[in-house]
Amino acid sequence: MITILVLPQPLRAQLAAEARAAFPRECCGLIEGERDFERMHAVILHPTANFSADAASFEIDPAAHLRLKRTARAAGREIVGCYHSHPNGRPVPSDHDRAFDGQDGFVWLIVAIGEDAAPAELSAFEGANFRQISVVE
Ligand SMILES: [Zn+2]
Repeated sequence: MITILVLPQPLRAQLAAEARAAFPRECCGLIEGERDFERMHAVILHPTANFSADAASFEIDPAAHLRLKRTARAAGREIVGCYHSHPNGRPVPSDHDRAFDGQDGFVWLIVAIGEDAAPAELSAFEGANFRQISVVE
């Protein structure tokens, strides 16, 4: 069971920058990484277009998802999860997020930012029930 997402500092900075650039819309993307028993190691964050017409939600480009799955596999890694931002929100799954079918072993990373320069807040969830897991560097 996944209990920890390892997210190195440069990836945290990338996530915060993408969230601010997309503001007031949500940014989104996929996490390429490696699984090590209960730890998921994020290696690359791949920004993808947000296909959602609704500003308060996100939808990852399915063609990009397929392409990134293949390139990750070729590199000996996998797409271990997705990420998106909550502009002016809290880093917890929204009702819209919970309407997705969560998958066991698939991580949801959420970054919450405000209009001010306050630091981005991060949290991560896993599986069909959006069980919260720790995020460490
Ligand atoms: Zn959300």
